[in-house]
Amino acid sequence: MLVPVRCFTCGNLVADKFEEYQNRVKSGEEPAKILDSLGIERYCCRRMLLTTVETIQQVIPFYEAMYKRNTEIQSELE
Ligand SMILES: [Zn+2]
Repeated sequence: MLVPVRCFTCGNLVADKFEEYQNRVKSGEEPAKILDSLGIERYCCRRMLLTTVETIQQVIPFYEAMYKRNTEIQSELE
């Protein structure tokens, strides 16, 4: 959902590099070269950035709907 802060396997900090990685991928650079230039060499860390799918924006509406329904129920009870 969100970018894991650290590599699951070795504990190396990866979240601080994710934004730059994502921006450079969007601008058309090759992911392998970006990871090399960011100093992410171990494949356990590389998979953290390569395989992250940001789904938070897709999940938020469900929480908003849940909150809205809860407030409706609360107002019906009062
Ligand atoms: Zn790692």
